[in-house]
Amino acid sequence: MRGDLQQNKQGRNVYDVIVVGGGIVGSMIARELSKYKGRFALVEKEPSTGFGVSKANPSMLHSAFMFPSGPLRHRLVYDAASRYRKLAGELDVVFNEVDEIFVALNTTQLEKLEKAQKWAEENNLPGGHRMIGAGELLELEPHVTPKALGALHGKGVGGIYAPEWTFALVENAVQNGLELYLSTEVKDIGREKDFQYDVVTSKGILGTRYLVNAAGLFVDEIARMVGDNDIKLILTKGVMAILDKSVSHLVRNMVYGSYGKDHSQLVTPTAHGNILIGMGYFTCPEHKADTGVSGEKLSEVVEMAKELIPAVSEKDVITSFAGIRSENTKAQVMGDFYIGESEHAPGVIHAAIGSPGLTAAPAIAEYVIELLSRAGMAMEEKKDFKKHRTGWRRFEEASFSEKEKMLASDPRYGHVVCRCEQVTEAEILEAIRRGADTTDAVKHLTRAGMGRCQGGFCGTGVLNYLARYMGISPTDVTKKGVGSYQVCGFTKEKRSQHG
Ligand SMILES: Cc1cc2nc3c(=O)[nH]c(=O)nc-3n(C[C@H](O)[C@H](O)[C@H](O)COP(=O)(O)OP(=O)(O)OC[C@H]3O[C@@H](n4cnc5c(N)ncnc54)[C@H](O)[C@@H]3O)c2cc1C
Repeated sequence: MRGDLQQNKQGRNVYDVIVVGGGIVGSMIARELSKYKGRFALVEKEPSTGFGVSKANPSMLHSAFMFPSGPLRHRLVYDAASRYRKLAGELDVVFNEVDEIFVALNTTQLEKLEKAQKWAEENNLPGGHRMIGAGELLELEPHVTPKALGALHGKGVGGIYAPEWTFALVENAVQNGLELYLSTEVKDIGREKDFQYDVVTSKGILGTRYLVNAAGLFVDEIARMVGDNDIKLILTKGVMAILDKSVSHLVRNMVYGSYGKDHSQLVTPTAHGNILIGMGYFTCPEHKADTGVSGEKLSEVVEMAKELIPAVSEKDVITSFAGIRSENTKAQVMGDFYIGESEHAPGVIHAAIGSPGLTAAPAIAEYVIELLSRAGMAMEEKKDFKKHRTGWRRFEEASFSEKEKMLASDPRYGHVVCRCEQVTEAEILEAIRRGADTTDAVKHLTRAGMGRCQGGFCGTGVLNYLARYMGISPTDVTKKGVGSYQVCGFTKEKRSQHG
């Protein structure tokens, strides 16, 4: 359900809470809020949720020992896997559980890992972290470099695909009454009086008593709108690449080599079975949209991956991308999350999250509910909260007998549109029916265009389905919203014949 935005202030919609930002953090908060009585809205500037930082990272859960500084961050990261496991069952969405293996390539790294193991033990981290020798490491990961001296092995992590998760979370929240405003940018926030705010958006004004600022890289800008000028962000950029599924056997678990504040050496399976490598030495982005990847940076990431898994090759890279990490300057301990009520605007909660925000997102959502309650909001749980949401079955992953049933129920399962990822017409149409209205949204929800050819074969097909089912011209279909048109005109036939 999309919110109906009134253009004038008199007729405006008024909410108990507006969440700004539909990344993994805002989507978790929206879903958590929808368990309670009240009128809630999520406002997202992009045409789909999960189009911000949440889509540009490895989407792996991390153990708290990788981020020991910051008591709040530590608390919210702790035991993330069990929260994700429970949510995956409720929301019918993939959580690919794997182990984490930190490989030591020299004695300094070995000592660092031994310290990390001790820290994990002292802090009672879930996962039973223990040091293993080179022999056991090779049994777990046969393709790891023979130069490895040993490793730290822990259980209880895993990977998600964040755009798919944000969609599932918000779809379930909408089932429970959340109103969703997509392609709606918050431009300003006015205060009539405490607990009475006017949220000025690109499409009109919304009223609210409480506001949660989960705007990711733009959390500082939203904070400034209510007079909080002291939340500043330090940005760094990491580069990642995805390998073709033909080499997915190269690692079974999340395999880390060297890691630190300024770099990261990772080879890991993704939630949907590719291998992701990254993130190299972090650099300073020129601005918040500076997500370009240079050939030099890509080579660095490939070389670092090869050092861990020698069979990794640049020729298996099917795509690369960069993500921008943020650290706020407001938390008392550098590196910690800052989540707190505004000092100038009562009822406004800022969530300035850095890495690993995705890991911590379920616990962040619970914490934000606690803060709203402390700020005075009456939190009464709904008796009729629907915790289950149904996803849709992937044809490629179904068993033979399931495939037969799917085909009998809808013959469009027999038409494979994306050959690389075996995505059928039925799945693409289901994604469009449920709200995907750009080619990127279809890609994130179905994987059409995620394979070796990166949409070279299926891209036109997906675009035409969108045009047909949305009743628009192919020239009006965008890749990811405003201005990102993919077809600029027609060469021979008349426009009306394509509509
Ligand atoms: C390279 C890299 C690697 C990482 N690795 C991991 C990892 O492996 N594990 C992990 O747990 N974490 C990792 N992280 C961190 C994690 O990705 C982030 O902490 C998390 O995705 C942040 O989610 P978010 O919802 O706060 O932000 P976002 O996903 O950016 O969401 C914020 C949303 O707010 C919207 N928005 C902004 N301004 C406005 C406005 N004015 N009006 C309306 N909407 C607005 C944006 O469009 C966006 O959708 C990594 C990050 C990076 C960059």
